[in-house]
Amino acid sequence: MSMIYYKTAAEIELIRESSLLVSKTLAEVAGHIRPGVDTLKLDKIAETFIRDHNAEPGFLGYRDFPNSLCISVNEAVVHGIPTDYELKEGDIISIDCGVYKNEFYGDSAYTFCVGEVSAEIEKLLKVTRECLQLGIDQAVVGHRLGDISFAIQYHAEKVNGYGVVRELVGHGIGKSLHEKPEVPNFGKRGRGIKLQDGLVIAIEPMINLGKRNVIQAEDGWTIATRDGKPSAHFEHTVVVRPGKAEILSEFECIEEAVKRNMELSPSY
Ligand code: MG
Ligand code: MG
Repeated sequence: MSMIYYKTAAEIELIRESSLLVSKTLAEVAGHIRPGVDTLKLDKIAETFIRDHNAEPGFLGYRDFPNSLCISVNEAVVHGIPTDYELKEGDIISIDCGVYKNEFYGDSAYTFCVGEVSAEIEKLLKVTRECLQLGIDQAVVGHRLGDISFAIQYHAEKVNGYGVVRELVGHGIGKSLHEKPEVPNFGKRGRGIKLQDGLVIAIEPMINLGKRNVIQAEDGWTIATRDGKPSAHFEHTVVVRPGKAEILSEFECIEEAVKRNMELSPSY
């Protein structure tokens, strides 16, 4: 798609439905995250859950991607392929999920901890979530796209000394998973298109504990940090609105599931 497509109220409700199903899928998966579980099992849980809700996994088959979830462990940034790798205490996993229902996509990602993680990783996760929120805070009518990008980059790089991945960016979303405009996590204030009511975008900071540079793994999909240090990734699908952006996906149900999961697991 080469043009920006602003959504009607009815279309936004359909994107909300898809986005909320993504969130519920991530919450379902969250209940199964523990040491010893392999990432392919999490993928199957997600696929079953999505199909049980009369929807299709948005990533499965997209540019020939082989699975329903992108699961990126530790130094993997995004686009990780689920495998027989068994999670271990102290890992972090970014789980990115897309859903296609009623001809519209929803897209959201959350980085989970496997048991206890180090204090420096905990801070990386906290700051990456702050970056996402600061970006969303700029997604209001009259601001420019670069205001979102700048807010994310400034908080990650200038305030916290982390690396911001340049090669992968957020995006418009609707009838296609990736639409115009691109939403980079770096940029200049006051630059780029003026944000208008009804623009639906996925904002998704990918923040590295070390340097920003990434490599493509041999599997042809996984993007990982060049220096091997961990990377975090959080994503929401949001609508540009006057005064305050509207968030269509949600983390609350995921957080409740994470909490329940920890309470049920005595080893945690
Ligand atoms: Mg995503
Ligand atoms: Mg996305």
